[in-house]
Amino acid sequence: MKILVINAGSSSLKYQLIDMETEQVMAKGLCERIGIDGHLKHTPLVGGKSVFNEDISLPTHSEAIAAVIEKLTSAEYGVVASMKEIDAVGHRVVHGGEKFADSVLIDDEVLKAIDECTPFAPLHNPANITGINACKAVMGDVPMVAVFDTAFHQTMPAKAYMYAVPYDYYKNSGVRRYGFHGTSHRYVSKRCAELMGKPIEELKIISCHMGNGSSICAIDHGKCVDTSMGFTPLVGLPMGTRCGDLDPGVMQYIMKKYDLDIDQMLNILNKKSGVQGISGVSSDFRDLEGASANGDKRSELALEMFNYWVAKVVGSYVAAMNGVDAIIYTAGVGENAKTTRKAISEYFGYLGVKIDDEANSKRGEDIMISTPDSKVKVFVIPTNEELVIARDTRDIVSK
Ligand code: AMP
Repeated sequence: MKILVINAGSSSLKYQLIDMETEQVMAKGLCERIGIDGHLKHTPLVGGKSVFNEDISLPTHSEAIAAVIEKLTSAEYGVVASMKEIDAVGHRVVHGGEKFADSVLIDDEVLKAIDECTPFAPLHNPANITGINACKAVMGDVPMVAVFDTAFHQTMPAKAYMYAVPYDYYKNSGVRRYGFHGTSHRYVSKRCAELMGKPIEELKIISCHMGNGSSICAIDHGKCVDTSMGFTPLVGLPMGTRCGDLDPGVMQYIMKKYDLDIDQMLNILNKKSGVQGISGVSSDFRDLEGASANGDKRSELALEMFNYWVAKVVGSYVAAMNGVDAIIYTAGVGENAKTTRKAISEYFGYLGVKIDDEANSKRGEDIMISTPDSKVKVFVIPTNEELVIARDTRDIVSK
């Protein structure tokens, strides 16, 4: 079975074609500047075919999907003989609200329900729906599955997901903590249990997804019981450009003082804050580590704040679960930034965590970076959201 995984944004569309017999990625690519002018980078990974990397006209997502299918099946760049070889499509969908606790086969009713979640993710869900409709237009009735970023977190108990605001806001308007990066947290926690050789139902795991956006998830016996992102992906840890937790009173004060409206304020909190806002240097941890090593104090502070927040949230989840067996680092920072991993792990002395420096300097593989006598195991596990989407799609269309 071959599955096309699609992650559609408002002007971009990422894809992977995965052969489910081997779980090998046959080809991957990215359409950019859809609706503006258009660019497609298509990389075949089997059969020794050429890479395509050119500007092409992509007026809508339908043209983008058509271009992807054309490349996947072409003599020069292709990895399959025809579109008929693609058995199903799995779509990443950002917000499933309280309606979706699992992945689901897409039909008109599901599309309507995804659309009803649009107020919770006004930028993302419409783009995801556009991607789904574009596939339908180009690929006909090939089965399609939606895999939600929020679904894994639906097991949180009310005491964790409720905000202490008037209850009607939850009841009538769905105001609660939803959490994001669920597909990533699900993948790495499952992989962690495999690496530990134990059923996930016997483990308490804390996974730290640290990338441009960052969130932490407490996974008690295989189920999410808390996570650091909330109603939106703006809260929790300070991120690349997002502020993380903030006293709402700060917004009122700044908006009045600088005469900003709410959209301008949120734009600053989403795009100009986080480690970028603190350092004034960059949102990229490579730049911050470099600048900090060269004596830049604000970059050093940004990194210290990030590490402190990760340690603080992990500590709160140890308390919430009354213990922890394993801590995972994943995503761009978690998989690559060994100095940051080490600095965060130094907070975990009280848990009996000991880091093996040699293991911590390896890259690109699933690896335990704690020493054999470390009381809590620490892992680096490269995340693979596309594989989770493909597996869910296979399982649902094979039923
Ligand atoms: P992601 O959102 O998971 O793609 O992560 C992207 C982020 O990972 C970048 O903005 C960097 O901050 C970080 N990153 C990627 N490579 C490295 C590296 N070698 N060292 C430190 N940080 C890295």
